[in-house]
Amino acid sequence: MPPTTILWFRNDLRLADHPALEAALQPRGPIVPVFVAPFASADRWAPGAASNWWLHHSLKRLDQALRGRGSRLVLRSGDPSRELVALARETGASHVLCSRRSEPGERAAEDAVREALALNGVALESFQSGLLFEPGTIATAEGQPYRVFTPFWRACLAKGLPAAGADEPETIPCPKSWPGSLALDDLELMPRTRWDAGLHEAWEPGRQGAMQALEAFLGGPLDTYAEERNRPDLPGTSRLSPHLHFGEIGVREVVAACSERDAQVFLSEIGWREFAHHLLWHFPNTPEVPLRHEFARFPWRDDDAAFQAWRKGQTGFPFVDAAMRELWSTGWMHNRARMVVASFLVKDLLIPWQRGAEWFWDTLVDADLANNTLGWQWTAGCGADAAPYFRVFNPTTQGEKFDPSGAYVRRWVPELAPMPDTWIHRPHEAPEEVLRGAAVQLGQTYPLPIVDHPQARRDALDAYEDIRRSTGAG
Ligand code: FAD
Repeated sequence: MPPTTILWFRNDLRLADHPALEAALQPRGPIVPVFVAPFASADRWAPGAASNWWLHHSLKRLDQALRGRGSRLVLRSGDPSRELVALARETGASHVLCSRRSEPGERAAEDAVREALALNGVALESFQSGLLFEPGTIATAEGQPYRVFTPFWRACLAKGLPAAGADEPETIPCPKSWPGSLALDDLELMPRTRWDAGLHEAWEPGRQGAMQALEAFLGGPLDTYAEERNRPDLPGTSRLSPHLHFGEIGVREVVAACSERDAQVFLSEIGWREFAHHLLWHFPNTPEVPLRHEFARFPWRDDDAAFQAWRKGQTGFPFVDAAMRELWSTGWMHNRARMVVASFLVKDLLIPWQRGAEWFWDTLVDADLANNTLGWQWTAGCGADAAPYFRVFNPTTQGEKFDPSGAYVRRWVPELAPMPDTWIHRPHEAPEEVLRGAAVQLGQTYPLPIVDHPQARRDALDAYEDIRRSTGAG
């Protein structure tokens, strides 16, 4: 009888295109699938509340999928090294197989598990399943990591995008007796107060939800993606981000599904995900520290009232407020809206990008350390291939351009719904009779703008000019 193998699930919560599972199936010995939930910890980047909500449901679906194949998911909680050593002892396993991750804490966890298992005569083998290419293998001619997206993605495409792995197996061999497992509720991933109704309405976590999202995207929005992907008022993007983050669908599967289609623009967004993960792998301190070091000296403000207004969607800028309320309600925000609210926080309010990144971290169902770090540093102008600092988004004209009829604002800021299209993105400039007709009382039913955008823009540019002069940065 071939020896028992432990299959350690991480953010690869699927059974198809799963190299570690494929390897575990080779010797046809018993397989013990396990997920080890981290203790709620003081770690700044421990999964946030919305992520935990998603994880709870995704683990449930994975367990159901495993049970349909004669197996099940063992749940443990705590330090993965300790838990996996204990599980290897209980099951007599000789091997643990898992997928690699690019986050610094997860890489350290894998190293610690490998060391602890080795001391107990158990081998850990890890596989790349979440990315198209192994970080470190895409390099410039000088062997350096790319800091600019276009040549990075060109180099990826030149290598040829990899094919997806095997389909879901029909059966998974199980051990004679199952080791003990916590119940899913013991992991305490679900919120204690019921703020999650909007998440339930908006999402179906798990493999089935991922495949449905992919089908829906291929059936329509992919064809118009290049034109409509910037429109938060339209269903123009795939909404695959949480499914990809938790690995309910593999990125290679997504690429394969588009192979017969004209999907260049969409694939380049998949390329940004790849770029973000490679950058985090090369520059593991970037969740805290700007990649362009001169920005560490930026004169940020400590304005808690403004930060709270931003978080609650009460800034007086309808496009920003719609986006922040969409985030709070559904755990997701459209990419264009993410760029605009991030720019507003960093450049109009001069609040450090790390505070915004933390709020996103707690509220996004797709919170992903690599993508979130890249998105915030890009917007702040301090990251790889970043938007130039002097490009400050105007929150009003961005709204008018990308939500031309105001449908997005009407959906998320209902107190402005009766405003005519012409004024919906600029209620503070609307004539008195228009406001009266729409029953909008500025400062009462809807806030006045918390900043004067043109002045805020000048202040941001002055601050940038100061650090540029004092550090000689470009
Ligand atoms: P689609 O347009 O359908 O794109 C397909 C996939 O490509 C996405 O699911 C995602 O995995 C990837 N992708 C698309 N755009 C980007 C991008 N700009 N950077 C990296 N990957 C991308 N994305 C996250 O997954 N998690 C985050 O925590 C996150 N935080 C962000 C913070 C800021 C400030 C900004 C500006 C962007 C952030 N993004 C993040 C990137 C992007 O906004 C989301 O990936 C996208 O909106 C998800 O929607 P979608 O699946 O419909 O995307």
